[in-house]
Amino acid sequence: MKIAVIGSGISGLLSARLLAAEHEVHVFEANDYAGGHTNTVEFEAFGQHYAADTGFMVFNDRTYPNFIEMLRMLDISARWSDMSFSVRCDRTGLEYQGSSLSGLFAQRRNLLRPSFYRMLRDVLRFNRRSVELLRGGAVSAGLSPAPDYDDELELGQYLERNQYSRQFIEHYLVPMGAAIWSAPPDRFLQFPARFIINFFNNHGLLTVRGHPQWKTVEGGAARYVEALTRPYAERIRLNCPVVAVRRHPDRVAVNWEHGGPEDFDAVVLAAHSDQSLGMLSDASPAERAILGAIGYQRNETVLHVDSSLLPRCRRAWASWNYCIPPQQACPVVLTYNLNRLQGHSSPDPICVTLNATLAIAPDKILRQIEYHHPVYSREALAAQKRFEEINGRNRTYFCGAYWGHGFHEDGVNSALAVGKCFGITMPWSVHGGREPCDGLRLKA
Ligand SMILES: Cc1cc2nc3c(=O)[nH]c(=O)nc-3n(C[C@H](O)[C@H](O)[C@H](O)COP(=O)(O)OP(=O)(O)OC[C@H]3O[C@@H](n4cnc5c(N)ncnc54)[C@H](O)[C@@H]3O)c2cc1C
Repeated sequence: MKIAVIGSGISGLLSARLLAAEHEVHVFEANDYAGGHTNTVEFEAFGQHYAADTGFMVFNDRTYPNFIEMLRMLDISARWSDMSFSVRCDRTGLEYQGSSLSGLFAQRRNLLRPSFYRMLRDVLRFNRRSVELLRGGAVSAGLSPAPDYDDELELGQYLERNQYSRQFIEHYLVPMGAAIWSAPPDRFLQFPARFIINFFNNHGLLTVRGHPQWKTVEGGAARYVEALTRPYAERIRLNCPVVAVRRHPDRVAVNWEHGGPEDFDAVVLAAHSDQSLGMLSDASPAERAILGAIGYQRNETVLHVDSSLLPRCRRAWASWNYCIPPQQACPVVLTYNLNRLQGHSSPDPICVTLNATLAIAPDKILRQIEYHHPVYSREALAAQKRFEEINGRNRTYFCGAYWGHGFHEDGVNSALAVGKCFGITMPWSVHGGREPCDGLRLKA
């Protein structure tokens, strides 16, 4: 078959790799590089050469089993990463780093802040009660019985119902969650409570010990892109944004900005939900309803070497540094310290900051990029469950990290599912069902 794969993130590239074993695959990519959120930027600074990951950066040994199998297949090595987290609140002056006692009290005055102890007490209570909830002990934990704890209950409602303190919500849970999903704080509180508690549990965020080991691709994530695309590299069309996909009974016609139509036997839409919907000139009501319910939001992203975006107190510096700006209702402001995450060494740390472009010294900016992240509302989770209503119909297949929790393992799983739909022999023994990823269960 002649198959078009539209979008070259992890989801599209792994789909193309699997399909290329038996079919003629053509990959369309709007950008001038393959990889999507896998975007390693190379640059010279401080008299040295660097390769810094600006999108996908880290994975762990617990919740990325298929991604790890993929790296093994490609013979790509990884190195340990440091996964620490800090909060800097420009409203109250509070700063802390979450991985040790000395980090928590990096600002010595935290020792004297009753609100800080209230936050810590609520962290322990949230962790304990979440674990009890997951074990089915909602009532004994003094919480509402299980029927309330479903996808209908938003995180903000759950926290209010159980009287968690403002300090815990504003200085711990929202920073953590908004950073993980790069979501605006108010939107994060609308994520379903069950989704968050399950995710925190799977990623060891409900315990003080037993966290997964985090890793990063040695030399930058673009190294796996190069290895993954080797068998079909000449069939990747960069700078080729698809503008229309029209399905016919016997073919799919694809138009791109400067060309087409070209006919294919099938199409794999590996862009985001909204982008994929936008390409379908003849979207069905189900496609409109399902893809339309899974939203994305934009995040301005800057690669730079301006350390003023990190906590003011150096002892509080971490790998992920969340900032609460003075003004209310802003997008997430987050700085990744790549020296800690990827092991770079430089006089000033190499950083990636989301949504604080104006605060970064212009002469310290290395690259400006725009990324989009999925937003998980109740409607989005309900739409994920309807995946099969649209996938594999009309010669059209859908993949993307948005069908799961929005991370690399989800992208890999979605690509494996595409391969299975086409009857491709899997390159490794697929790990499935580790996570409650309702929208996309791998079919044997
Ligand atoms: C700053 C940042 C940090 C992150 N860090 C991590 C991390 O450390 N670990 C982790 O697991 N996940 C991380 N993520 C999440 C990341 O989004 C997912 O892991 C995954 O990379 C998404 O892959 P995807 O294939 O679904 O989408 P993408 O990688 O976004 O790929 C979609 C592709 O479709 C292309 N496209 C769109 N429209 C068209 C069109 N009309 N025609 C042709 N092509 C089109 C796009 O250009 C893009 O290349 C991070 C994301 C960001 C932005």
